[in-house]
Amino acid sequence: MKLDILVIAVHPDDAELSCSGTILKHLQEGKKVGIVDLTRGELGTRGSAEIRDEEAANSAKILGLSVRENLRMRDGFFKNDEEHQLEIIRIIRKYTPEIILSNALEDRHPDHGKAGDLVNDAAFLSGLSKIKTTDEGDLQQAWRPRLILQYIQDKYIKPDILIDVSDFWDQKMESIAAFKTQFFNPDGDSDETYISSPGFLKVIEARSRDFGKYINATHAEGFTSRKLLGVDNLFNLK
Ligand SMILES: [Zn+2]
Repeated sequence: MKLDILVIAVHPDDAELSCSGTILKHLQEGKKVGIVDLTRGELGTRGSAEIRDEEAANSAKILGLSVRENLRMRDGFFKNDEEHQLEIIRIIRKYTPEIILSNALEDRHPDHGKAGDLVNDAAFLSGLSKIKTTDEGDLQQAWRPRLILQYIQDKYIKPDILIDVSDFWDQKMESIAAFKTQFFNPDGDSDETYISSPGFLKVIEARSRDFGKYINATHAEGFTSRKLLGVDNLFNLK
């Protein structure tokens, strides 16, 4: 299946927290969008790998994704090396996305930056035809997406572009709430973590409203790009 946008996220819930408004917006415009999670988040303090698999599947339904899969790399210990790059290349060639959204290149959680670099390196290598990969026994064609954007996660990073997601805030919060074990839930267990504190989702909302303010929107999501961005028409800019 060809995807217009492939979102790659190291932990199930990274995509929901950082770019699910953008995902929803493009799905509504008829684009095909999928998420590939690299790990099952098995090192997370709350929940378990099995529970997070279920939560990710529930969120995928709420978002209406075309596809969601998990590469089962080792949470915390995957590397940006040949073995892992080849796995990402296989996924990029399988879905031939025009655009990839990936983890922030720098963040509080070291997995985020590592995954962001891994995806960028693999996306470049995926365009080299002498690198041979197969999917279910079939030799794959080289493919390089035309754009990779990094979503912004915990650390404040000045975005290179903002996407107006005002119409999708409620649905974004529903997709985040699908991760019942991870975020604040009055009926949840009492083992509080940084992201399960009641204030955490307020910070997500504050960031979204702050980004929105700069483009005269209620909510926006920010992205960075390693390449210069351009548009065909000035009137497409806000
Ligand atoms: Zn994460």
